[in-house]
Amino acid sequence: MILDLRELVVGVVNTIPFAFEDSGAELSDDLTSAEVYVEGAAENHAGYLTLSGKASLQGVARCGRCCKEFPVRLEFLLSYKMAEGLANEDEEEFLLLEDGRLNLSEVVRDQILTEMPFRFLCKEDCKGLCPVCGCDLNVERCSCDTREIDPRWAALSSYFEEDNENDHT
Ligand SMILES: [Zn+2]
Ligand SMILES: [Zn+2]
Repeated sequence: MILDLRELVVGVVNTIPFAFEDSGAELSDDLTSAEVYVEGAAENHAGYLTLSGKASLQGVARCGRCCKEFPVRLEFLLSYKMAEGLANEDEEEFLLLEDGRLNLSEVVRDQILTEMPFRFLCKEDCKGLCPVCGCDLNVERCSCDTREIDPRWAALSSYFEEDNENDHT
């Protein structure tokens, strides 16, 4: 979505509202499908240009622990200052317009990638899959011995064992 803000920049109008939809599936490998709904407005406050609104991502994500797919809905606030051309050394604070135009899809994508969770979980305490038999530990219990599977946990448990031995001496 390219926003044409030329009339806003020259002051013909004070507000340019926007609402559009972009695909969001490519934002993360863990999203099997996603749409991004964007709405808001660009405003000219006596020469001070702002853009505000929100982006809602709705779709289906794959749980990072149990691999189950589940619906996700995330919201991202959009709030920026804009400037035409190079402002000054503060330019990093601004979205820069090119000939009065702004690639809003790109702005939204950057915002989402900055705030997106590192991984999606179907629920905060998802138990994941058994690393031995692969069963979903949220719905079944298996009798696999998983204590030695992860070398980090193995190191940790021997540490505790040593600790106990010291207690007895
Ligand atoms: Zn899960
Ligand atoms: Zn198992």
